[in-house]
Amino acid sequence: MPPPRTRGTALRHRLAELRGPDVPAKALDARALAALAANPGCARRAILDGAGVNKTALASALGSPSAFGQSQFALTRGNAFEAKVKADGGAELLRLVHEKLDRSAEPPADARVPDLTATGPQGRTARTALELREAAAHPGAWTLLDHPMLALDVAGSPAFLEPDAVVVHPDGSWTVVEIKSFPLLDGSADPAKVGAAARQAAVYVLALEEVAVRLAHETAPAPRVRHRILLVCPKDFSNLPAASAVDIRKQRAVTARQLARLTRIEDIADTLPEGTCFSPELPAEELTAAVESVPATYAPECLSACELAFHCRARSRETGAVTSLGRPVRAELGGLATVEDVLAAARGEAGDPDDPAVAALRRAAVLRAEALEAACR
Ligand code: SF4
Repeated sequence: MPPPRTRGTALRHRLAELRGPDVPAKALDARALAALAANPGCARRAILDGAGVNKTALASALGSPSAFGQSQFALTRGNAFEAKVKADGGAELLRLVHEKLDRSAEPPADARVPDLTATGPQGRTARTALELREAAAHPGAWTLLDHPMLALDVAGSPAFLEPDAVVVHPDGSWTVVEIKSFPLLDGSADPAKVGAAARQAAVYVLALEEVAVRLAHETAPAPRVRHRILLVCPKDFSNLPAASAVDIRKQRAVTARQLARLTRIEDIADTLPEGTCFSPELPAEELTAAVESVPATYAPECLSACELAFHCRARSRETGAVTSLGRPVRAELGGLATVEDVLAAARGEAGDPDDPAVAALRRAAVLRAEALEAACR
């Protein structure tokens, strides 16, 4: 077996080949890392993300452009709301953190808001770590880090991540703050949007935990990353901030598992035919063959999480795969992988009658026939 450094270099070389000659790697951001948790078993997504393929460009080249991205209007409105939340040295934001997460602490007054300016992502990451160390050295005070930069090792290369804010509490613990422009109506928001925000925050929490581990030897008590984050949104349809504490333990566990799996993209790369390449410059036919050479597990959740969703949905429907009906249905059907298999099993033409899924389908078919007969009488 070659030494680890040689293997790492070989993998980087292989991933560059998959991306295509002279195609720069697309850096992974928290949104992309978080989306991995939305479809944990997809080898296609894992290899494309691991190789730094620009999936938006790939989807367009395949003829199924993604419907992702915020409008300029939404971006401007989101930025204005964030600026409002962080105005006056983050007074309102810190008040919300105190109210929702740490009522027993002294109310925030004269919080530190250090300047995190530095050159390049590496410089900003180092600057953030320095300020977190500084905050740990001054327990009893509140500190607001506005747009800190964190690094997370993903498949051997660092992904740089920028949370909206991180707050250091007087007890030395750290909270991730996510500021979103969807509304909190009567204290609750669209669960799908809250779920996406929680998955994104979980990525930041994992990156912060790596910083905490590094600082653990230098500070007492060791820094603690809170697993309840603060989600700040506009209240009802106003521009006033409202906040909710969100428990992200589940999302953190799933994302951590996924990231560990991403480091094994080498295994997926090894199964691909020699010469496989995902460059958007290739003819659509060749590109389609390359993409189809990696197994995918399409599910309706992909539509809100992956740029290739329209392509994979079309393929999944073409093959009659039951995954396109959603994971709960898929789980109920056991080994029956296509709609054709399911119908044949229900009609009694195929399938093992002792298989609980087959037995349930046959029972359902009988009940349906009885109901139809009764309706026609
Ligand atoms: S859209 Fe396709 S590539 Fe993306 S996660 Fe779903 S199945 Fe995988």
